[in-house]
Amino acid sequence: MKLPHLLFTFVITILLIGCSAAPAAQTKEPRSFKNTVVSLTFDDGDADNYQVRDILAENNLRATFYVISGFTGTAGYMTADQLRGLHQDGNEIGGHTLSHTKLSAVRGADLKREICQDRLNLLAYNFDVTSFAYPYGYYDEKSKQTAIECGYNNARIVSSGPAVIPPVDAYALPAMPYIVSDTRFAKMTRYVTQVEDAGGGWSIFVFHHVCDGCDQFSVSLETFSKFAQWLGEQQKTGLVVKTVGEAVGGEVKPGVAP
Ligand SMILES: [Zn+2]
Repeated sequence: MKLPHLLFTFVITILLIGCSAAPAAQTKEPRSFKNTVVSLTFDDGDADNYQVRDILAENNLRATFYVISGFTGTAGYMTADQLRGLHQDGNEIGGHTLSHTKLSAVRGADLKREICQDRLNLLAYNFDVTSFAYPYGYYDEKSKQTAIECGYNNARIVSSGPAVIPPVDAYALPAMPYIVSDTRFAKMTRYVTQVEDAGGGWSIFVFHHVCDGCDQFSVSLETFSKFAQWLGEQQKTGLVVKTVGEAVGGEVKPGVAP
């Protein structure tokens, strides 16, 4: 009688350990965020960007779209109606110049036209235009001053992030490295968790095309959806996702004629 009894106990114990261990191995500890803000930014107003509208809304996220107003509605770029749709959902429409010119190469009236006229065009759609991004991230003192004169509250550069809130220089907001076609989901989440682990900060993401490898500077819809869903989940444990304009703050200034 003793041996079968021992065996029985042994089997039951194994079963119990197995049952209690299984869910623990599958469920990841929900991590909490206390000091990290994320901004999702899309450069250029590419037509394929419109695909993320529903994904953002479904996950309770709002992004910043930097638009080249001179290209709006032309082949390969979003239409004015699509921009209005994004804006209606609470996304931010920011400026990215009239024609995507390297600003360090233009001067005087041309420089002012590229930045001020672009902003005027976007204000004419009734967008709250407070945020600007330098094409290719190229900027100098002159372009910075012009962004200020044209009524912008902030301007984003590229790389060298994370940034902090309030920013060290609102007219040179550093972003995380470009999201490119081989940037994986895990790396994107690390751009958020590493900032939190290092004490917090502002992680600004820079996206361009949304497609399956149509461009080096692209993210697939699948990877973006996964990341958006992950961000949506983390918002429940303290992560804050804001548009750039919200993160920096300030009133919408009137347009300035170039
Ligand atoms: Zn650009």
